[in-house]
Amino acid sequence: MSAVVRAEMLSRTFGSGKTEFKALRDVTFEINEGESVAIIGKSGSGKSTLMHQLALLDSPTSGKLYISNKLSTGMKAHELEHLRNQEFGFVFQQFFLNGNDTVLNNVVLPLKVAGLQRGKRNRIAMESLKSVELEDKASVRAADLSGGQKQRTCIARALVNNPSIIFADEPTGNLDSVTGDKVIELLFKLNKEKGITLIIVTHDPDLAKMCDRQLMLKDGKLVGEDK
Ligand code: ADP
Ligand code: MG
Repeated sequence: MSAVVRAEMLSRTFGSGKTEFKALRDVTFEINEGESVAIIGKSGSGKSTLMHQLALLDSPTSGKLYISNKLSTGMKAHELEHLRNQEFGFVFQQFFLNGNDTVLNNVVLPLKVAGLQRGKRNRIAMESLKSVELEDKASVRAADLSGGQKQRTCIARALVNNPSIIFADEPTGNLDSVTGDKVIELLFKLNKEKGITLIIVTHDPDLAKMCDRQLMLKDGKLVGEDK
């Protein structure tokens, strides 16, 4: 198996001098293609900070990170953006949808960024909406969806670029448990059927147990890896 993520002694320090804070300390691990991995730990333990590093949304203070065997540390902003667009899909607790725009336009956005022409990108976005069973909502305003439908729209948007990894930060944090379970079911279905690597930040022990592996953080350090 090949590693889609390799972190070597990753550290992230915020501030300096008196206000210096080490949010991530010398974290080393690998994640293989097709794995599902939960990042767990108490509030403030560094979960989101770690995910932001892995997702190339923030740079480490020291250490090395490889994504699909490419060293991302030291890459230029446009190279990072390219890698991110090519390889990643994102699902966040806060949805980050444009409520005033239609479901279809929200899903199409990454393809617009990638420069695909309208006909093609609409086709791909519709297919993606179908895979989350929301094709009938394509022309509805995103603000008018239920919470579960919003999160499924985010998953559809995460899928349009055929990502090798989906990052989910507390994906069920804003959902009731029944709706949350459906979203989780959908994420694991994509993991099993499409081989998409899942990296999920969660404080839900049941969700963490569903993953192949758990990376546990404490005060920014990796303290345990359960198989
Ligand atoms: P978690 O997601 O596990 O709740 P975070 O990764 O968000 O934790 O934060 C870890 C620690 O780093 C917290 O103490 C937080 O206050 C601090 N931190 C996170 N981001 C910043 C920042 N941009 N500036 C300063 N401190 C930060
Ligand atoms: Mg967090």
